[in-house]
Amino acid sequence: MSGGPLARLRFMRDHMWAGSRFSAYLDGELGAEEGARLEHHAHQCKKCHQVLEALRQTLAALGRLSSATQAPAGLADAVISNLRTDRG
Ligand SMILES: [Zn+2]
Repeated sequence: MSGGPLARLRFMRDHMWAGSRFSAYLDGELGAEEGARLEHHAHQCKKCHQVLEALRQTLAALGRLSSATQAPAGLADAVISNLRTDRG
């Protein structure tokens, strides 16, 4: 990461923004523009990259267990908050 205070502000803003959209992104509910923005941020942000990978793996594992069963509501949020409280 590089840049001045403005770049950092933008990064933090995207970081907050991305945090609430991972599950929608993985559900394919984000538009192309928002999806690209989230991917772009995840490339720059180690933490969001980890969250995204963890969610992907969780969903993939659930999909393998039963493709007919939906992931329980709130599961994605639980995974995210686990990762977030892990390390500041
Ligand atoms: Zn981030």
